[in-house]
Amino acid sequence: MRCSLYVSGCPFKCPDCYNAAAQSFRYGKPYTDELEEQILADLAMPYVAGLSLVGGEPMLSTPILVPLVKRVREQFGDEKDVWIWTGYTYEQLLAETSDKRELLEMCDVVVDGPFVKRLYHHDLAFRGSRNQRIIDLRASRDTHGDLEAEPAIWSSGRRDSEGTVPFLKPAAPKS
Ligand code: SF4
Repeated sequence: MRCSLYVSGCPFKCPDCYNAAAQSFRYGKPYTDELEEQILADLAMPYVAGLSLVGGEPMLSTPILVPLVKRVREQFGDEKDVWIWTGYTYEQLLAETSDKRELLEMCDVVVDGPFVKRLYHHDLAFRGSRNQRIIDLRASRDTHGDLEAEPAIWSSGRRDSEGTVPFLKPAAPKS
């Protein structure tokens, strides 16, 4: 089970967007201190594996998400993983403003790129279209020491015949 935060506002306007209402920057409810405390409380539950940041476009809400993910890391270390879905590509994000890179640096996995309807396939795991990549940021950092090098892309982004999908190895709990 995961805790998911849906962030409003997205400029990509992909045809057949899975959450078209959230393209508006005026959609949804204001983010509050109470909501942030609820997110941290939910993450503390042993059956919650991590936090999913989805949209809209989370990379345009870094003033909210950078402090939130910092708190998640301070409180849980690597025990809970953080995934982020973005319409930007990994390469665009690395060339973008420092806030986007700062958020990327604290996440474990990014699913990148816009949804492209003609590349949709129903059995893709964690993504809607084949152009989108599941990039293991933790593996990229562990292998190369930074995010500049070739990203570590999951080779199997599809469900297998039994409907299962690969998952990150859980981090050892902090002592
Ligand atoms: S990037 Fe995602 S949220 Fe934004 S329009 Fe495309 S599918 Fe919708």
